[in-house]
Amino acid sequence: MRTIITLGVSLLLLIVQSCNTKTKTKQKNTESDKNELNSIFPKGEKGTEEWFTGDAYYISLVKADSIHSTLVGNVYFEPSGRSHWHSHPSGQILIITDGIGYHQIEGQEIEVLKKGDVVKCPPNVKHWHGASPDEGLQQLYIIPNTERGIVEWMEPVTDEVYNSK
Ligand code: MN
Repeated sequence: MRTIITLGVSLLLLIVQSCNTKTKTKQKNTESDKNELNSIFPKGEKGTEEWFTGDAYYISLVKADSIHSTLVGNVYFEPSGRSHWHSHPSGQILIITDGIGYHQIEGQEIEVLKKGDVVKCPPNVKHWHGASPDEGLQQLYIIPNTERGIVEWMEPVTDEVYNSK
């Protein structure tokens, strides 16, 4: 009987302790996530004004080779950071891993991107992507069939276009 009570008390203590741990972890995450997105990969290099408006960082994760002619990398856009208009000769796939951002194909409305979204951009279609004004964006890019080319850069996205959302 005594053993059962002791076991019961120990179990109860364990449950209480694990609940406490969960609460503490949650509070910690909320504080640290306020201004910083969850980054899976290293931040990488800062993008130049030739390709980006505002602050963006990129890192290559998979380089194309003779077997896999596909490029994979990560871009982190700080709030308001965005790419210039550009196109990809073989198209592009974006996978959003954190934050809130924008994507626009020329002639269409700005589309809001959030964690978990997957966007397919067709070949040779003029578009841009980047962060929202208040929250940054973490995005993975996949460029298939790089033998056809990777990217063709165009003019910057004006504030008027960016703020039209
Ligand atoms: Mn693109």
